[in-house]
Amino acid sequence: MLKLIPGLTIVDSKKPGPIITIMAGTHGDEICGVKAFKKVIPNLKLKKGKIYFILGNLKAIKLNQRQYQTNLNRLYKDDSLIDLKTKQTYEYKRSREIMPYLNDSIALLDIHSAMDKDSIPFAICEKPFFKIAEQLPVKIISSGFTKMEPGGSEGYMFQNNKIGVCIECGNHISDLSDQNAIDAIYTFIANFNMIDKPAPQKVNVDFIYKTKINFKPINYFKDFEPIKKGNIIGYDGSKKVIAKSNGFILFVVSRRTSNKEAFLLGKYI
Ligand SMILES: [Zn+2]
Repeated sequence: MLKLIPGLTIVDSKKPGPIITIMAGTHGDEICGVKAFKKVIPNLKLKKGKIYFILGNLKAIKLNQRQYQTNLNRLYKDDSLIDLKTKQTYEYKRSREIMPYLNDSIALLDIHSAMDKDSIPFAICEKPFFKIAEQLPVKIISSGFTKMEPGGSEGYMFQNNKIGVCIECGNHISDLSDQNAIDAIYTFIANFNMIDKPAPQKVNVDFIYKTKINFKPINYFKDFEPIKKGNIIGYDGSKKVIAKSNGFILFVVSRRTSNKEAFLLGKYI
């Protein structure tokens, strides 16, 4: 039994199977993974095995900054390769708390995001893991970091003959990185058959609203935004337009004239 550490959540199926680690907040201002943990962990039902969810740099996460004293993601390496000054840092201590969990796992996904506002989602891993990285929501898969930037979490796994993949989900604060972090977690876990492969939500469109006079939505609706029976969608002339059943809304648009398509409604199937 490993010593419990702060920032660790264990999701255990209580059935035999792989042990994997998923990390977020290795850099404290890269919060998409931190947010994804909150969404994914409470809903996760594993078929087998166990997952260690670890919030990496707790102090930096709290301060919403990249690091506290040094870069945590250069410290996953042998003590002999780390200088004395670095060994005094919080991050060094933290890396030594985390390493036993990496050692206990067969695979690691480490979730990051980037400062560049147009950052393209990409993966970092060594070549044997390209097949796994291909499943992730990325445009580029890059290798070579184990040598170029020693001490990274995924490189540490690789050097120990284990699977290590890092994902850069997109810009720090963006819907893209938030969604990619969630998708990456599910896809990575599915790779080990610990959950079923995530499938797209299936929906059916069953209602189209055409204007009597005109149409003005009550507010902005996202495509596929959930909607409840009785919700006001907007106004046609002076008359309220109300959802007649639960489901989702799609393609909402203001219209100035009659007999124009103003929105669609549908249901999840
Ligand atoms: Zn990072």
